[in-house]
Amino acid sequence: MKRARILVLGTGGTIAGAAVSATSAAYQPGGLSLDAMLGNLAGLDLAADLIPQEVAQIGSQDIGWPQWQALHAACAGALVDPSVTGVIITHGTDTAEETAFLLDLTLPAGKPIVLVGAMRPADAVGADGMRNFANAVRVVSDPAACGRGVLLVMGDAVLAARDARKAATSSIDAFKSFPRGAIARVTPARLDWFGPPHRVGWAARYPWPAALPRVAILTAGAGMDEQPVAALLGIGCKGMVLAGMGQGNAPACVIAALAEAAASGVPVVRATRVDEGIVDRNVEVDDDALGLVAARALGPAKARVLLMVLIANGITDAGAIQAAFDAG
Ligand code: GLU
Repeated sequence: MKRARILVLGTGGTIAGAAVSATSAAYQPGGLSLDAMLGNLAGLDLAADLIPQEVAQIGSQDIGWPQWQALHAACAGALVDPSVTGVIITHGTDTAEETAFLLDLTLPAGKPIVLVGAMRPADAVGADGMRNFANAVRVVSDPAACGRGVLLVMGDAVLAARDARKAATSSIDAFKSFPRGAIARVTPARLDWFGPPHRVGWAARYPWPAALPRVAILTAGAGMDEQPVAALLGIGCKGMVLAGMGQGNAPACVIAALAEAAASGVPVVRATRVDEGIVDRNVEVDDDALGLVAARALGPAKARVLLMVLIANGITDAGAIQAAFDAG
């Protein structure tokens, strides 16, 4: 296999986390610079040339438009640079699924772009970051990774951006993949794809927008009333995602307020606060009559990312939004 040349974009997170001591729970995500983190990998003798570029040194709870813009621009540059094999983005795990999905929606799939993180700080006993990084190098180095969209490598598994979801706060095996399972198993020594790319075509699905609109997630709770909907409209939300009960449900007064918002031109997507499962149209809520959209397999965080991208690209009609959520 030809030696890979990989652009490594550092953003921080636990993979670059510096702990008080190797056994302490407290640590600072992004406390370690990208150069220091890559220095720790020197002894691994990875079969790739790494080109480091520090984008940020933050916990991914603080990631947003400025870092996303920088990541998108750097990835777009790497995609057209014939000397670059692919990209690894080191990222905190809290919002890795959001960054991965945003880039997946807005970049072509011609070269592998892989997000990688860790659940334990770089200097903690039993740190997982080095292994995850070595796994990511193996994935980017494999030509069969092309055409699969943005990927997340964690815990010896390769997950597609659309499926990946953080489902545990601290265990090494923190990510789940739904509705598809992992698309490959990877170790530093071996990579096994479970099937051909599922993505249709290599073109970017949506243009990179000039800005992202304010879209809020409203979590439903028993006994709540509809006032939060008015409050969100009051601060200028251009779209809303309901993290609903069960199949995207909420008290009748809340659903009525959301339907009013939809009728006024603020698209509303019903997702679920449940760990896993599909939210389908017209089950307990009459989406057809109320002008609402069902999130299908996307959880609230990724439903918000897709809705932001759609609105930013002028797609606000409920039918067109539903078609985007249906596209698998
Ligand atoms: N909250 C931090 C972040 O997302 C740490 C979590 C992690 O990276 O595992 O960056």
